[in-house]
Amino acid sequence: MSLFPDIVAPQAIAAVLPFDGGGHVYSYLVPPTLTGKIQRGQLVRVPLGNSTRLGIVWGMATQAPAEISPHKLKAILQLCQETPVLSPDLPELISWMAGYYAAPLNAVLEAVLPGAVRQGVRLVVRKKLLLTRKLDEADLRKLRRRAPKQAALYDFLAIQMTAVDRAATLKGLSVGATACDALIAAGIVAEESEQVSRDAYEDDLGESEFVAAEAPVLNPGQQTALDAVLADLATGKFRAHLLHGVTGSGKTEVYIGAIRSVLEHGGSAIFLVPEVALTPQTVGRLRARLADTGTRVVVWHSHLSAGERFDAWMAMARKEARLVVGARSAVFAPLPDLRLIVVDEEHEPSYKQSETPLYHGRDVAVYRTRLNNAVALLGSATPSLESLANTRSGKYGLSRLLTRIDDRAMPALRIVDMRRELLHMRGQTVLSRPLVDGLRVRLERGEQSILFLNRRGFSRMMICPDCGFVAGCPHCSIALTYHRTDQTLRCHACAHVEAAPASCPQCHSPKIRGRGTGTQKLEDVLRELLPDARMMRLDADTMGRKNLFRQVLADFRRGKLDILLGTQMLAKGLDFPNVTLVGIVDADLSLHIPDFRAAERTFQLLVQVAGRAGRGDRAGEVFVQTFTPEATPIQCARRSDFDGFLQDELEQRQTHGYPPARHLIRHLFRGRNEDKVRFFAEGWVRFLEEHAPGLVEVRGPAKCPLERLQDNYRWNAWYFTDRVTSAVARIQELRAGFVFDPGVVDTLDVDAVEVG
Ligand code: ADP
Ligand code: ZN
Ligand code: ZN
Repeated sequence: MSLFPDIVAPQAIAAVLPFDGGGHVYSYLVPPTLTGKIQRGQLVRVPLGNSTRLGIVWGMATQAPAEISPHKLKAILQLCQETPVLSPDLPELISWMAGYYAAPLNAVLEAVLPGAVRQGVRLVVRKKLLLTRKLDEADLRKLRRRAPKQAALYDFLAIQMTAVDRAATLKGLSVGATACDALIAAGIVAEESEQVSRDAYEDDLGESEFVAAEAPVLNPGQQTALDAVLADLATGKFRAHLLHGVTGSGKTEVYIGAIRSVLEHGGSAIFLVPEVALTPQTVGRLRARLADTGTRVVVWHSHLSAGERFDAWMAMARKEARLVVGARSAVFAPLPDLRLIVVDEEHEPSYKQSETPLYHGRDVAVYRTRLNNAVALLGSATPSLESLANTRSGKYGLSRLLTRIDDRAMPALRIVDMRRELLHMRGQTVLSRPLVDGLRVRLERGEQSILFLNRRGFSRMMICPDCGFVAGCPHCSIALTYHRTDQTLRCHACAHVEAAPASCPQCHSPKIRGRGTGTQKLEDVLRELLPDARMMRLDADTMGRKNLFRQVLADFRRGKLDILLGTQMLAKGLDFPNVTLVGIVDADLSLHIPDFRAAERTFQLLVQVAGRAGRGDRAGEVFVQTFTPEATPIQCARRSDFDGFLQDELEQRQTHGYPPARHLIRHLFRGRNEDKVRFFAEGWVRFLEEHAPGLVEVRGPAKCPLERLQDNYRWNAWYFTDRVTSAVARIQELRAGFVFDPGVVDTLDVDAVEVG
């Protein structure tokens, strides 16, 4: 990569960013022993203050900074390993993120570089030797004469009671590896390796038994889309490309074709998915279909141990593995020669990180491909308005796949008006007659159904009909959720748990009970209505148990279950050919949240969820229960009218100046004393408007919809701007000159997704 001078001349000076060094880059001399060996991205040990630190070579310089005379510079103490732990583009990416997302440089570095790599963890597989067969006198004499080194090792092992460390023993006895291996080959000595970590490339995510390794012949739409991406790749320049393909249109085949081309040309690629555990089929498919390229596929997921993380990271850095599949943070894979980043389901809010640095995985992917003159391929059945706007302005290319593979029918969407249905429902108010009838038909035909309800737990809240008491979280301003299985009340915003009361804490009425419907309650209602159905519930409560989750999905796929019920997480990418009914129990839940993206989220949810139906040979049917059937996103989803929804929603956003019309920055202020939080939020906004009038359009400050979270009161201000980079930089400057009370913490969230 010619952008970066990798290797430097003798007497060079290196800029190093030490960990925990306050986020400053310092200059160090490259000592003669390391001349010519220091490269950008390497892990080194340097002196800092009175101690030493590990850090990253950030760049090279030929001259020391003017204010320091070169002979005062300290030298790098140690090069921890030759292979750079960051590919050459990453320091620049990290610096950009620190600026764009208004985050400290070391916070970004920490998000990029796994702890195991930062600490230089290296797991060596320790090999041990053990004598397994005694030689008789004659053989031993022969061995002594013929191969004295082997005999020396034999003699040593013969007096050991246990296995000994191979490396230490050979070194101590001055015996070579060949002699040792000869004894092993003769069956006299056994070698055991102490397996410190399991192989990070192999895991049980592949579900390979369901994977067809054969490549289908692309249909004309797929071929056109793939050709467009290949043409982008061939330019050797930065290109971003949106693949808008309805559910089941075969987007994954286009991704695979592009990745294959990159691998065959010696490049490397990143494949981002919203959540690895939910995409086992995709992982299996990639592995099976790309096996012939000889590339190892790293699956980067949250369950890797420190050792596995280290091994996988270094394998990528050394180009031993050239494809990584993972969620958000896989965008930082240290792959040299990065040619392509695929972002599947690019509209997913889970790509946005929820702690500092508050980066968006998709946007970082696009910037990183820009740095590498590479291609970003964003795919979705329901692209974000941001990405669509970028195709309209010509910044991104666009390919569309508007029909399903083999022209399978798009599932028919049936809108169930719950205002009318409620009049006819008996004994329960959860499932309408058409939905129940639909489920019965599926059971008779031996087909499968999925029901979605975006609320876990049993009921939404516990309420006393006598005095109106609602059980709330003592730390947050929301109602607690009743979980019947363990008789608890839980806060879904913080981790608070308490026992569910048997009588009202306020008026002691025994009538206190749960109201509203959660996934647990839905399960009860279903079991009553359809006692013969085999069903399982999947939500964040069961999700915590990793194996259970996989087991349930595997059982469902094998036809051991008739009905799967769960939260929205089930909408992501799952592909079950035998599912012919999908029910959305309460479509209004996402429509009435205080978020300017509420309509977009509802539309996406309906289209994605509907996409889970009818993926096999039989057509699917989707039931949407709602009290507001006339709402635009519901109507547009019913007609699969993507462009209609887009037009309407873009106009709304334009009118109100929301993204994608402009960038949106959220400034969050929080603290335990509400008066202080409010005082400083208001004071800051006045200060900002006074010192930088017109820099941004300010709305607020005001209380957040979630006023209190984990005992902190929360206020926020919104900044709207066309020029986000310069606005953030100026706000940061001003922010440094404004003194907040230590009890008030403020955070800038650039391109905020979370608005609660
Ligand atoms: P999407 O990601 O757009 O929802 P997928 O890529 O998962 O769709 O494809 C849906 C199904 O169609 C998969 O089972 C896939 O194996 C199959 N498929 C994809 N392309 C073709 C093709 N050209 N011919 C036959 N089957 C295909
Ligand atoms: Zn009461
Ligand atoms: Zn709480």
